[in-house]
Amino acid sequence: MKLNIACIPGDGIGPEIVTEAKKVLNQTAKVYGHEISYTDLLMGGASIDVHGVPLTEETVEKAKEADAVLMGSIGGDTTTSPWYKLAPQLRPEAGLLAIRKALNLFANLRPAVLYDELADACPLKKDISGAGFDMMIMRELTGGLYFGERYTTQENGVRKAVDTLTYNENEIRRIALKGFDIAMKRRKKVTSVDKANVLDSSRLWRKVVEEVAKDYPEVTLEHMLVDNCAMQLVKNPAQFDVILTENMFGDILSDEASMVTGSIGMLASASLNDSKFGLYEPSHGSAPDIAGKGIANPIATVLSAAMMLRFSFDLDKEADAVENAVKNVLKKGYRTVDIMSEGCRQVGCKEMGDLLADEIN
Ligand code: NAD
Repeated sequence: MKLNIACIPGDGIGPEIVTEAKKVLNQTAKVYGHEISYTDLLMGGASIDVHGVPLTEETVEKAKEADAVLMGSIGGDTTTSPWYKLAPQLRPEAGLLAIRKALNLFANLRPAVLYDELADACPLKKDISGAGFDMMIMRELTGGLYFGERYTTQENGVRKAVDTLTYNENEIRRIALKGFDIAMKRRKKVTSVDKANVLDSSRLWRKVVEEVAKDYPEVTLEHMLVDNCAMQLVKNPAQFDVILTENMFGDILSDEASMVTGSIGMLASASLNDSKFGLYEPSHGSAPDIAGKGIANPIATVLSAAMMLRFSFDLDKEADAVENAVKNVLKKGYRTVDIMSEGCRQVGCKEMGDLLADEIN
């Protein structure tokens, strides 16, 4: 099979981790007889430095021509980087929001899995984490507060800022459908998270999710308020299968779930549209504090590449091989600094990539 992949290495540790993910993909392609072509594209700070804007038309068009996009991460140190002296719409993150919109990537999938080998890194007490957990957070990605009208004004000499949270029923229905479809392939439970005791947008969310649920009688649907969900994630994470939620709640809850697994450097993500096309990237940011030091954990990006093989190319065997390579390397005791524990051997970003690629044969 020919895999036409657009690559956005991005900023900070982005180029380091994407290099290792490509190494693992190349080895997988070699073993399973596929041909990969990569097109490297600029976005975020790297694009600002060259073009003055975080996303160009050219990047969008080239991304659209590809079968899927593999991304590192974008952004810099938000207090010291000159990128953050620019107007908000010219900053690195504006590029990310714009490309999600341009590619119509409305469904964000973030698995949060507790690996046996990393159980010690989990900050929860053993009696809570002992049962393990394996959940998928489905976050709506192109609506809600981050895309609503916003402005800052002055009223009677007092500064005032306004952000608007808007959802229409079509936006809710399409993400709910994806959520229930994914639940059908898993443990058949959807927890829809909202703030229906306060927000109108949440009350519509709940109604539409219930309408969609009627077509999935095998799936158990429960509703949970977002504040309760934040607590339940640290009290009883094993209860969750698919968490279905809107943009801002999903942003916060997926970061919380990531910390519960023990390392942000392990968490993959996929953003999908209606077709097989997707953008795959680690859940973490560009980690400017460790950029260039060669110590970043590439596993989240490698696991994102595995999701790409599974969701965009239907190459399940190959995706399994990459996921098993991660498990095997962890079993053998190799760790990057962020997941290091006593008795293990610490390796850098490049060595971790080599070890993962070597496992695929
Ligand atoms: P971050 O995720 O970059 O870093 C948080 C902490 O986790 C840091 O201590 C970092 O060193 C560590 N970390 C993250 N990834 C790691 C990895 N792979 N291996 C080892 N350690 C890792 O979050 P932040 O510091 O809040 O943000 C930094 C920049 O990234 C900001 O500009 C932010 O806007 C941007 N950001 C981008 C994305 C994206 O590209 N999708 C997502 C989140 C944040």
